[in-house]
Amino acid sequence: MADRDAGLDVSVPSIARAYDAVLGGKDNYEADRAVARQLTETFPGISELAQYNRDILARGVHYLAAHAGITQFLDLGAGLPTMENTHQVAQRERPDARVVYVDIDPIVLAHGQAFLAENAHTKVITADLRDPGEVLANPEVRALVDFEQPVAIMLVGMLHHLHDNDDPGGIVRAYMDAVVPGSHLFITHFCDSDPEARALEDTFLTFLGTGRFRSRAEIAEFFTGFDLVEPGLVYLPLWRPDDEEPLHLTPTERLMIGGIARKT
Ligand code: SAM
Repeated sequence: MADRDAGLDVSVPSIARAYDAVLGGKDNYEADRAVARQLTETFPGISELAQYNRDILARGVHYLAAHAGITQFLDLGAGLPTMENTHQVAQRERPDARVVYVDIDPIVLAHGQAFLAENAHTKVITADLRDPGEVLANPEVRALVDFEQPVAIMLVGMLHHLHDNDDPGGIVRAYMDAVVPGSHLFITHFCDSDPEARALEDTFLTFLGTGRFRSRAEIAEFFTGFDLVEPGLVYLPLWRPDDEEPLHLTPTERLMIGGIARKT
């Protein structure tokens, strides 16, 4: 890994690597693990929370491929490859499904390229999703995604890493303006529904520089103009669970909400 990661400043934690550390992955360095420890100290359920996010990502992609007829996925802020990545879930349902992973962190490309070398329907690009014009014009994106056909725009566990002055709402609209009706928007986001959220937000901001816990109303705004599919914008374990719906949610289960909406 050292060779492949040459040129990266591993003394500065990255969101992608810290998330990998929280998920128990191996593609991280001491600076990332130190952030993971700080987050765990503030909120011991952080690893579970990250796993709930990965679980809904898989359920959401399965829904999109199996029930919403989606064969094209633009996974923005994709993170490092882990278990049940978007292309694996989508291509299980639709072997022809095409997936472009976009991440600002070059380590995602380094690890993703090796992982995806055999998969002609999947690409990883390094780009800043805050520039939708550039991402949408990227030749690798255009080579794989047909914008005349529906696309899933995925911002899973991502928008809370954008500050308000990045204009996350405008960014979501720019991507959704570029896709045809029948396309879908998939968002999960840190939610400030419990007092625990504030302490965790402080830790994120102190050690990673991002991590904005928005209110349910602020997160619902991102879906304005689109039709939320059932069950709407809900705590992650309540979105089409594989097993029975939990009757009582723990504070960890209430720290993120998510949903999928259709452009009509
Ligand atoms: N979507 C994956 C998931 O939910 O499991 C990964 C989420 S991870 C918490 C957030 C990812 O967003 C990181 O890999 C980070 O590098 C990436 N990211 C942060 N800011 C970004 C930006 N401006 N453009 C593209 N990617 C960004």
